[in-house]
Amino acid sequence: MPKPAVSGQPIILVLSGPSGVGKDAVLSRMRELHKDFHFIVTATTRMKRQGETEGKDYIFLTRRSFEKIVESGGFLEWAEVYGNLYGVPKEQVTKALSSGLNVVIKIDVQGARTLKRIAPEALFLFLAPPSMESLSSRLRQRMTESPEAFAVRFSTAKNEMKESIWFDHTIVNEDGNIDSAVEKLRGIATTTRNANVLVDYFSLS
Ligand code: 5GP
Repeated sequence: MPKPAVSGQPIILVLSGPSGVGKDAVLSRMRELHKDFHFIVTATTRMKRQGETEGKDYIFLTRRSFEKIVESGGFLEWAEVYGNLYGVPKEQVTKALSSGLNVVIKIDVQGARTLKRIAPEALFLFLAPPSMESLSSRLRQRMTESPEAFAVRFSTAKNEMKESIWFDHTIVNEDGNIDSAVEKLRGIATTTRNANVLVDYFSLS
């Protein structure tokens, strides 16, 4: 009999943390190393930044197209972040789960809070910087934000750090060691997915 590649029920992982903490870098490394995950591409109305690819980094939409999807109930969650709209396409999540893949949703802390209400059974992971100094220099290095935008994001980040307490796990994204964060994330996902086998087993009795 062919063995399933992975055991347990597929899970939804919500990866959050302050802007600049390295969520994208961690997920892009994870994409290279692990194939049993579907990484949700969220939709946004913000302008494409240099180096970003449509359908890979984001689904870039006009405000009107975005609002039409909102009206049809096509987003699992959506929010306005720094003046732009962002949303998680519902169909991507359901399709990936039904094909047995774990789903990873990268989202800001405000969005994670909303998802906690919508999908409380998901696994909520908070990516934290090793220090606020490190976060500040990572945000500055981006060079895509004006000094004003930097100030807003850094002050928001300080408040977002306080929210880590309600997440299931906090993973520190150490400077220069992305693989360590990826392996921690992967380990927590595997343990949770395997535990889901027990949940199914007990529900049979
Ligand atoms: P950026 O414009 O820098 O790519 O993203 C700004 C913020 O929006 C980030 O913190 C990112 O995690 C968040 N974000 C991306 N997609 C979504 C989404 O679908 N919903 C919510 N609430 N936030 C999102």
